[in-house]
Amino acid sequence: MTPAERVIRDRIAEHGPLTVGAFMRIAAAHYYGSRDPLGADFTTAPEISQMFGELIGVWCVVVWRAMGAPAPFVLAELGPGRGTLMADALRAAQAAPEFLRAADIHLVETSPVLQAKQAERLAAAHPTWHGRFGDVPDAPLIVIANEFFDALPVEQHVGTELRRVGIGDDGRLVFIPADGAIQETSPIREQYAAEIARRLVAHSGAALIVDYGPAETASGDSLQAVAGGKPHSVLADPGAADLTAHVDFATLAAAARAAGANAVGPVPQRSFLRRLGIEGRAAKLMAGAPRESRDSLAAALERLIALDGMGTLFKALALAHPALPTPPGFEP
Ligand code: SAH
Repeated sequence: MTPAERVIRDRIAEHGPLTVGAFMRIAAAHYYGSRDPLGADFTTAPEISQMFGELIGVWCVVVWRAMGAPAPFVLAELGPGRGTLMADALRAAQAAPEFLRAADIHLVETSPVLQAKQAERLAAAHPTWHGRFGDVPDAPLIVIANEFFDALPVEQHVGTELRRVGIGDDGRLVFIPADGAIQETSPIREQYAAEIARRLVAHSGAALIVDYGPAETASGDSLQAVAGGKPHSVLADPGAADLTAHVDFATLAAAARAAGANAVGPVPQRSFLRRLGIEGRAAKLMAGAPRESRDSLAAALERLIALDGMGTLFKALALAHPALPTPPGFEP
């Protein structure tokens, strides 16, 4: 039995069945807290290609200039994984040394294992870590988050009831009820969007959220587990498989608007990256590169913008102070 399952069973024994959100929170804390899953269980856009983080670095510089080039300002990343996205973004931003001088880097990360990787990768940038976004200092702000929201817990509703995880007759973990039409919500994700939006409105700035999920709110069960790159049972081995659920961009945008921010998008990752010039960037990297590098660059480009894959499944949403112009990549 995994350590997370032990915690979950103890909680059920004491308080009765856990909501799906409570189950997901315990599983995620154990999962991310005990390993670096990138590459082993799943991969992400910044791990696929340096181009992803580089283009986001350029995005940050353009947004910072539109904000009036505040110095200092906070550049915050939520769930930075191995620190690859931030490292690539900061390298691309070397073209704007005044941006780098003004940037105070803050990382929101709960996993000690991944914090250690980030510390190694980003040592030169002297980042500060926080367990939650609320502890990031108040200042003009740029936030980036790739595949962060999908890991935050969702609740599942069946009719007027919250779906729960309990112990079945055979002693295994089961969903209660086992079936029925499911609607997902995520109070914690909405709180994050609202909290970011309040900061952007109070101090100026913008946030870029890239994740997977439908453009419009959809019904159904999107909870999925992945281990070793393959689909895994959601209830078996909690804490040993990556548990995610679709991000409901429309609800995040609504929460941000209710807090006074502008929300633009979501736009498919494919359109976002192409508008930022990913094809030109790829061509530049390919020019003069050896054959194998050219082939792997072409494959990475195709993967990031694939019409039948990441390019459309993943989307970008921008939140911004209402006075800021439409951020790059979101132009109509
Ligand atoms: N952004 C990275 C990693 C994505 S994996 C990339 O694109 O490669 C999800 C990241 O969010 C991990 O770094 C994980 O440890 C972190 N994370 C998950 N839940 C979190 C929480 N509740 N608070 C802060 N960080 C969290």
